[in-house]
Amino acid sequence: MPNSAQIIRGARFPGRYLQGKGALDRLGEEAARFSGRACVLVDAAIFDMVSERTARCLASIEHFSQHRFGGECTESAISDLIGLAAHNAATVVVGIGGGKTLDTAKAAAAKAGLPVIIVPTIAASDAPCSALSVIYKDEGTVAHDLFLPRNPDLVLVDTEIIANAPSRFLAAGIGDALATWYEANSCQTSGAKNCLGLPGLPLAYAVARQCLETVLEHGAAALAECDKRVAGPALERVVEANILLSGLGFESGGVAAAHAIHHGLTELDETHAFLHGEKVAIGVLAGLILNGQDAEFDRVRRFCQETRLPTRLADIGISDVTDAKLQLVARRACRPGEIIHNEPFAVSEDQVVAALQRLI
Ligand SMILES: [Zn+2]
Repeated sequence: MPNSAQIIRGARFPGRYLQGKGALDRLGEEAARFSGRACVLVDAAIFDMVSERTARCLASIEHFSQHRFGGECTESAISDLIGLAAHNAATVVVGIGGGKTLDTAKAAAAKAGLPVIIVPTIAASDAPCSALSVIYKDEGTVAHDLFLPRNPDLVLVDTEIIANAPSRFLAAGIGDALATWYEANSCQTSGAKNCLGLPGLPLAYAVARQCLETVLEHGAAALAECDKRVAGPALERVVEANILLSGLGFESGGVAAAHAIHHGLTELDETHAFLHGEKVAIGVLAGLILNGQDAEFDRVRRFCQETRLPTRLADIGISDVTDAKLQLVARRACRPGEIIHNEPFAVSEDQVVAALQRLI
C-alpha cells in the first residue's frame, strides 16, 4: 500500500460557471472571448422562445449562425454540427437547451478542437458541467458514453429561463443531486476512483456534502418558486446544487450504487418515460437500504415525497412487479466492473432485489 503522500488525487471543473437571472444576455461578450465566431445549436423545444434573443446578444460579435436541433445525440448529429462549424469558420461552439443538445455540442466541439459554451435551459441533471456525452444509436438506444478530454469552457446558466421550464425538470435535478453525496461518500470510504480514474481530493467530498445540504434545505421552496415561474433565492441555490455542485461532486468524488441501480432500472421499458433524476431517486433510496442506513432512508424518503420525487417502483412505471423484473434490474446493476462495486462492501444481486422489494 503506498502511503498517502504517494497517492495522486484529482478533480476536474468547467473552465468557468456563471449563473443568474438574465445571464443569457452575456452570451455575446462571452463568445467574443473565444474569437467571436459562434456556431450555435439550439434545442428545437425552445428555439422559438430564445432564438431572437440570442441573435440580439450575438449581434456584436464577428459572426454567428443558429441551428435548430430536435434529434438525438448521435454520431451523425455530431458530424453534422462539426460540418456546420467548419462551414462557418466557427471559433466557438455554443449549445443551448436540454441534455441531448448540450451533449451534441460538447462532443462536436471536442472533436473539432473548438471551445464550447454550454447554456442549460433546464436543471434536470448534473450533466452540463461534465466532460461526458451520452451517444445514442440512430434508432434511439444508448450506444456509449463518450469521455471528453476536458470540461466545457463556460457554463452559462440563466435562472429566469430555468424558472420558466416545467417544475418536474427541477425536481428530477434534485433527484440526481441527492445521489451525489451518498455515492461520493461510498467512494471515499472504499477508496474507489472518480471519473478521472483517481482517488478524489477532499474538496470533492466537501462539495458533494454541500450539494446534499443545499437540496435538503431549499428543494421544496425552489419547486414552489418554479411553480410561480420565479427565479427566487431558493431556486438560485438549488440550480447551483443541481448543475454545479452535483456535477463537480460526481466527477471528482465518484459514483456508486444509486446510478448503478438507475442503469438497472432502464432495462425495464416501463421506466423509459421517466427522467434520469427520477430513476436516480429510486436508486438513492435502494442504496441507503443496501448501506443499512435506515434513519437516513426515512429522512430521504420524506424529502422525496415533499419534492415530488418517486419513492416507490410504481412511481416510475413499474406497477406490475415480478421477481424476473427485479432480477433483470439487479443483474444489470451488479454486472462485473459496474459502479455498484464502488460501495465499501460486497453487493450481490440478491441484496439489490431485496432492497427493491422494500420499494414496492
Ligand atoms: Zn446522474
